[in-house]
Amino acid sequence: MARILYIEDNPLNMRLVRKMLLSDGYTVLEAVDGAGGLAAAEREQPALILVDINLPDVDGLEVVRRLKNNPVTASIPAIALTANVMHGDKTRCLEAGCDGYLAKPVARLEMLNIIRYFLTRDHSTPAVVR
Ligand code: MN
Repeated sequence: MARILYIEDNPLNMRLVRKMLLSDGYTVLEAVDGAGGLAAAEREQPALILVDINLPDVDGLEVVRRLKNNPVTASIPAIALTANVMHGDKTRCLEAGCDGYLAKPVARLEMLNIIRYFLTRDHSTPAVVR
């Protein structure tokens, strides 16, 4: 089954989302900050990346920008997870290069549907799903 990298500094969110991913058969790779996430993405070449927006070192959107500017990781779908559901968040996500967007608290089926969407189709053009 596909390997998914989750970049998240909050242990409770990490545990919750990990459980959801494992329940659907995914292998979960974990990073607790932006630098670790970027290194893991390059090294492990996951099928998809979930990234928290509020990270202790680099902003999650900056993580996505760097992923998309690196030829080694640019084609990996990156989905932003954020508690900041303020107006304009989606636009900022798109501008940073996010392929998708999920608001916290993450709804299990919504997340799994978006992941399946990206893992089963060719997405040459980035698009925000939600
Ligand atoms: Mn966070």
